[in-house]
Amino acid sequence: MAGKTSNLMDKLVSLSKRRGFIFQSSEIYGGINSCYDYGPLGVELKNNIKHLWWKSMVYERPDIEGIDAGILMHPRVWEASGHVEGFTDPLVDCKTCKMRFRADQIDPSRGCPHCGGELTEPRMFNLMFKTFMGPVEDEAHVVYLRPETAQGIYVNFHNVRESTRKKLPFGIAQVGKAFRNEITPGNFIFRTREFEQMEMQYFVKPGTDEEWFEYWKEQRLRWYDRLGIRKENLRFHPHGKEELAHYAKAAFDIEYHFPFGWNEIEGIHNRTDFDLSRHQQYSGKDLRYYDPENGEKYVPYVVETSTGVDRLLLTTLVDAYTEEPERVVLKFKPYLAPIKAAIFPLVKRDGMPEIAHKIEEELRQCFKVFYDESGSVGRRYRRQDEVGTPFCITVDSQTLEDQTVTIRNRDTMQQERIAVDRIREYLTPRVSL
Ligand code: ATP
Repeated sequence: MAGKTSNLMDKLVSLSKRRGFIFQSSEIYGGINSCYDYGPLGVELKNNIKHLWWKSMVYERPDIEGIDAGILMHPRVWEASGHVEGFTDPLVDCKTCKMRFRADQIDPSRGCPHCGGELTEPRMFNLMFKTFMGPVEDEAHVVYLRPETAQGIYVNFHNVRESTRKKLPFGIAQVGKAFRNEITPGNFIFRTREFEQMEMQYFVKPGTDEEWFEYWKEQRLRWYDRLGIRKENLRFHPHGKEELAHYAKAAFDIEYHFPFGWNEIEGIHNRTDFDLSRHQQYSGKDLRYYDPENGEKYVPYVVETSTGVDRLLLTTLVDAYTEEPERVVLKFKPYLAPIKAAIFPLVKRDGMPEIAHKIEEELRQCFKVFYDESGSVGRRYRRQDEVGTPFCITVDSQTLEDQTVTIRNRDTMQQERIAVDRIREYLTPRVSL
């Protein structure tokens, strides 16, 4: 990580706030622990990440369809999935400093990692947020905020299969909010209690699951190249027997080398027929697939790919952040950049602002662009570098003579002159997905 320092996280938190990527939630009330809001640039980056995922998972493939299921689901869903009973983390408290830890993330025999104090015995803590449906607040009206999007896919397996006439193998993809009452949230947006997931469940014939598992491992690792993440900062982490979730036959995490260590950004799981079988049992509905090739009926196996939008946004920020002697640059892939092009008049006279505004207006129909006329052009370049804008267009005195502008490339800092009426066709292939 050339040019990076150990306080990189502090720098990213500060840049994110100053430039409008990420704000602390409810900041004017003092904030709320580990909840964040995305600002004008953050929401663009987030949408671009989601669009990249959706495009590669849904639009570019004939075998995957998308859905958007509700956050609130029938409470039996979470009994069937095992979440009511088993979605728990072991919680320990320090009796001295009162800090809380997940017993599986520390060595409890060594006492409190913060002050060395004595720890309580672990208590199992369910991570699902509970609320009530309707006006009566009793056990019969409990509903949960979904802790993962996957269950919305399982309960719609038949609806999607029937309405799209898909045959196995096929997948269902979804992007949406999930909520977990995490015991130890932290590291900025790495672990929060409200976050967004991008999950895909791939339904396959039993016996072909291991092959598909290998396939999806490779596909997903390769996808990070499109997200612009450096290979050397990615690795696979296979789950050992003790780490495997109750439903999984095999699992691999894709990990990223964050400033605070290697950590999971995506999980690829062979979930067998666990989920569909459980929903079949709990709902009493036949969820088997009729295989037209051999006339058999069986419950499909599932290979899942599951990642978090917020965690990937943090990954792109960390990976793109570059300090050079004269500037800080976010070297995003151009299609991820929140602003695609900035337009500057060299000076605020001689008709330059008018021409620049005209260019801005035209480009605004296609891309998110930004007009800036304040400060020296050098300073305006630096401001755009810091938020990752791939191109800056300057209207200067030559523009008045020959209707050309300079286009400056963020990474090479080279400028070229092109005709005003060619700007759009120049930018389109360079900033589009
Ligand atoms: P951990 O063991 O770290 O709690 P997990 O193994 O339970 O995570 P999964 O259930 O596999 O995580 O979730 C899939 C993906 O969803 C993760 O790789 C991550 O990108 C994202 N994710 C999960 N929990 C959170 C969270 N609290 N905040 C942000 N993203 C999350």
